[in-house]
Amino acid sequence: MSFDFDYFVIGAGSGGVRSARIASQLGAKAAIAESRYLGGTCVNVGCVPKKLFVYASEFSEFAKQAQGFGWASSESNIDWQVLRDKKDKEIKRLNSIYSKLLEDSGACLLQGNARLLDANTVEVDSKAYTSKHILLATGGWPRQPEYSGAEHVVDSNAFFFLDTLPHSVLVEGGGYIAVEFAGILNGLGCDVELVYRGELFLRGFDQDIRQFVAEELTKKGIKLRFESKISEISPTEQGSYKVFLSSGEPRVVDKVVAAIGRVPLTDGLGIENTRICVDAGGFIEVDENFQTAEPSIYAVGDVVGRKALTPVAIKEGEKLARYLFSGQSIALDYANIPSAVFSQPSIGTVGLSEEEARERGIDVTCYRSNFRPLKHTISGAEERVYMKMVVENSTGRVLGLHMVGENAGEIIQGFAVAVNMGATKSHFDETLGVHPTAAEEFVTLR
Ligand code: NDP
Repeated sequence: MSFDFDYFVIGAGSGGVRSARIASQLGAKAAIAESRYLGGTCVNVGCVPKKLFVYASEFSEFAKQAQGFGWASSESNIDWQVLRDKKDKEIKRLNSIYSKLLEDSGACLLQGNARLLDANTVEVDSKAYTSKHILLATGGWPRQPEYSGAEHVVDSNAFFFLDTLPHSVLVEGGGYIAVEFAGILNGLGCDVELVYRGELFLRGFDQDIRQFVAEELTKKGIKLRFESKISEISPTEQGSYKVFLSSGEPRVVDKVVAAIGRVPLTDGLGIENTRICVDAGGFIEVDENFQTAEPSIYAVGDVVGRKALTPVAIKEGEKLARYLFSGQSIALDYANIPSAVFSQPSIGTVGLSEEEARERGIDVTCYRSNFRPLKHTISGAEERVYMKMVVENSTGRVLGLHMVGENAGEIIQGFAVAVNMGATKSHFDETLGVHPTAAEEFVTLR
């Protein structure tokens, strides 16, 4: 049977673009359809603009710290429109780089809504294309709250395009995005309160790290309200919002930002026209080869929901293309995936938390360090650094490294190689430090 394409990718985000490019470079006739923007969530309403906003928000604190070093005080405010527009310009530049990368790879880019008609046919804006293999890489979308007045809430997409910077903000949620947004808004000068339904935010991270971050954010002036939920939002005549909580007094704020998780984006995808199965959360079910219950259709990235991180989607997309078009191994190890939360201070983490290790019945010793970094001995800032190493007693293997502090992501990225290679505590002990750095603490933990 002949097809229009060997490989048809739906969704030009991190995973889809990488997969289409690799397939094309390997000689497959590939197409990729996208209805929104090139680069997906990461480039347009995620990692990239978020990090730019984090940079912008850090300057207020740096300016304060500079005074400790003798710089004269210089009060100034952020011009939100300038920041937002410069961010938009940079994102446009990245969109065109993505377009060029696809063009250079030889993959055919189709702009429009793609829908599965059957196991080998995709319709893009009323035109049908057949393909031997199809990849679904449609990603996710912010979960929308359901209480009364939820239509007034700004979600994590709309956050990046606000017309004005609010004076007061209530951030709802306790995951990566809520904590990062709270830090950005606080640094930009907003009055921020974070409301989280559980006992302590950042569920899934090491308990000591969660506790330490809560203390650091509080020191910076972010109000943390745990074990509370929004029950209703109503607009006020002054243009702000009255927010009713399950516990505590109602708040009046300029904006409510919801970051309560993300759901897989499968609406309108036509999966009902195939044998594809989804799980209770709506994520597409795939086997170890990313193959759905419809053998010609595969899925990677956030729509599968194994680990909603850009580098994971990229790796999955690449592995799949190499497997399909050059017979390479598809095996992907999900252990030891490093990640960072760009809170302020930031979190870097790789491997098991102490709780995860103990839940698995592993006998571990934990090494901790909590110190004031050299810079803040003069800057006047109260910020501290926290580091933790989880070591398996029977082998000496370092099972987890966790850090809160400036550049935690950069530091953990380097150490992640060692953890991934099975480094032991003795390997760390035998490694000399780079002095004076915060990172050297990881090789001097005793
Ligand atoms: P997360 O899954 O990290 O966190 C969702 C948060 O919302 C949790 O605190 C959860 O609470 C809470 N929540 C879920 N449902 C509700 C509800 N109905 N009402 C109130 N609260 C609710 O999601 P994010 O949206 O923060 O981020 C999505 C994913 O994107 C992350 O998991 C991460 O994989 C990725 N990401 C990565 C970043 C990075 O690498 N730096 C940055 C941003 C996102 P509970 O814990 O109780 O379930």
